[in-house]
Amino acid sequence: MIELVDLKRQYALIRTELHEAMERVMSSAGFILGEEVEKFEEEFACFCGVKHAVGVATGTDALLLSLKALGIGEGDEVITVPFTFVATALAIHHAGARPVFVDVDAETRNMDVAQIESAITPRTRAIMPVHLYGVPADMEPILKIAEKYGLAVIEDACQAHGALYRGKRCGGIGTLGCFSFYPSKNLGAYGDGGIVLTDDDELAGKIKMLRVYGAERRDYCIYRGYNSRLDALQASILRVKLRYLEEWNRKRREAVQRYNCLLRELPLKTPSEPNDTYCVYHLYVVETERREELREKLKQRDIATAVHYPCPIHSQKSFRDLGYHEGDFPVSERLSRTVLSLPMFPELTESEIEHICSIIRKTIQET
Ligand SMILES: *Cc1c(COP(=O)(O)O)cnc(C)c1O
Repeated sequence: MIELVDLKRQYALIRTELHEAMERVMSSAGFILGEEVEKFEEEFACFCGVKHAVGVATGTDALLLSLKALGIGEGDEVITVPFTFVATALAIHHAGARPVFVDVDAETRNMDVAQIESAITPRTRAIMPVHLYGVPADMEPILKIAEKYGLAVIEDACQAHGALYRGKRCGGIGTLGCFSFYPSKNLGAYGDGGIVLTDDDELAGKIKMLRVYGAERRDYCIYRGYNSRLDALQASILRVKLRYLEEWNRKRREAVQRYNCLLRELPLKTPSEPNDTYCVYHLYVVETERREELREKLKQRDIATAVHYPCPIHSQKSFRDLGYHEGDFPVSERLSRTVLSLPMFPELTESEIEHICSIIRKTIQET
């Protein structure tokens, strides 16, 4: 059996270190914020080359609190993509603002920067690009447009821990950068977690208050905030795993090279790395017109696959009231019908990749 993401293999490799870290937290009884969270925040900020990091409960909350800290809400619009995980748009909605979509680029599967300006209205306050699958979005033109129109840029870096765009870490390029530590992410906790990065002292301070009920100091609140903190036990686990992140990302990249090489010449589109970026391949996603057939054949051989994502956000029932229609975002719609995620995690072996690719090759060539 080959899983899409096998977290058990990774656990076996770092078990002792994790137990020591958790023991430290449990024996000190410091479960909420405190030293462990502060240390992880410092270490992650340093890793990303950013001044501040604020740990929160989830990636979705990282996006929500970022919007709130910018004062974005009722009557405002935020430009993002329909081809992403639904949480990107949910955060905008729950802040009280309206998600406005622009289609993605067929090659990078990230925000098509040529379409941004025509989506800007007097209500637009921010642009929220997503570094989908660990491939950096084209940030330079996004920052240029943001500057021209006085907009904030909030990076959804929930799939891009450690990725680089022109030498800078994803999540450390815009006004704010948001990460999820959901277990299967490139840097994943053993439960939920998230973090916001920013160089702005004032925004960092505000998010620190928003995560503890809006309190400036205990029992004195200046905002109507939330309870959204990164758990100290999770922070202790993340501190251990952060030390391995670069090595694990390198292994993901090696797996991608192997896949790409074994699948070339098949009528199936494999991912490519945009110029001057370092992709960290949260997922390995190919495009094929024969997706369901391939999924079935792989399933019969005990190989897990998935589809990220089968329904673009503008087509979700939950966002029907935004008023979009089928045909509004043709690239996103086509991708939602053709993308296929194959197993991808750092411990995936060469022979497993060979096995997966030989089944794909046979399926495609036999019929
Ligand atoms: C995982 C993810 C999120 C949400 O993170 P949670 O921690 O699950 O709330 C948001 N955006 C993208 C692109 C993601 O992959």
